[in-house]
Amino acid sequence: MKTVSIVISAYNEDGNIAALYQALSKELEKVKNVCFEILFVDDGSKDKTFSEVSKLQKQDSRVKIVQLKRNFGHEIAMTAGMDYAKGDAVIFMDADLQHPPLYIPQMVQYWLDGSEIVLTKRVDNVATSRFYKLCAKSFYWLLNLLSDTKIPESMPDFRLIDRKYVNFLKGFNEQDRLFRGLLSWIMPNDKVKVIDFKAPNRFSGKTKYNFIKSMQLAINSITQFSVRPLHLATYLGLAGAGCSLALGFYVIIERFIRHNPTPGYATIVAAVGFIGAVQLITLGIIGEYIGKIHLEVKKRPLYLADFIEKKPDKKAK
Ligand code: UDP
Ligand code: MG
Repeated sequence: MKTVSIVISAYNEDGNIAALYQALSKELEKVKNVCFEILFVDDGSKDKTFSEVSKLQKQDSRVKIVQLKRNFGHEIAMTAGMDYAKGDAVIFMDADLQHPPLYIPQMVQYWLDGSEIVLTKRVDNVATSRFYKLCAKSFYWLLNLLSDTKIPESMPDFRLIDRKYVNFLKGFNEQDRLFRGLLSWIMPNDKVKVIDFKAPNRFSGKTKYNFIKSMQLAINSITQFSVRPLHLATYLGLAGAGCSLALGFYVIIERFIRHNPTPGYATIVAAVGFIGAVQLITLGIIGEYIGKIHLEVKKRPLYLADFIEKKPDKKAK
């Protein structure tokens, strides 16, 4: 019988675990002729997430736990889950019920019918404000403008991936990773299905992404998939040089040909400020990439984890 692993990354989600498990078990019962393993990745939670999932494991041997030794972040948590998952397909989902288990039977059915990747598309996200939606839209526009790997908007990490593609994904060893981008990189042209869904509010707790974290993710996403910002730095430098040259000519013409010397300090301050800004931006962009190289060359392990699974009860002879 085929097995599907469900990888759920959880960081401080103790208020959601029981409700998620309940909703999930109800849906899994509807799927016949497929075995499931439910793999919770506890991403170094400081609340009772681990004891909540341990409780579930006592009553259900399908529940397995990857306990990360500290908080490594959502992308690494999903990677750890993927590494330990044994299924013929892997479903990734969040722990806060914003990825409703309701859609899992449909995902599995598509896969059984031959699809190799089943994506989901948020058609409405009640949890986010208009401002956030606008920021997200601008971010994806910029990302897709700057990057060769196109990442579609509104496609969350809630998805099913066949073992063949899971193995491809396991071949990526970069520290700094964006699952969505990696998946776009290996995405086949066919055998992909998309399910539309409405994302509800979080069941309990707060989002783990604040403005700063979202910005970091945005910058990382761009630098991971593109070197175009480096070209942009060059163009900025060239534009700055062009402007200063034009200004220089203007001053010379005013002074020696039209005998009308311009009072200097305002122009000088503006020019110096402009050139300084261009240099700083350029250095910043180069710095982002050097920082990435610094992190990647060390080839440190991506995470440290314990894997906890309930041994099947030995039957008394
Ligand atoms: N998450 C994680 N590690 C982190 C941050 C988040 O495993 O460092 C998990 C979190 O528990 C949730 C999922 O990633 O299951 C998505 O996080 P969240 O709901 O906060 O993001 P949002 O839905 O607000 O974008
Ligand atoms: Mg969420």
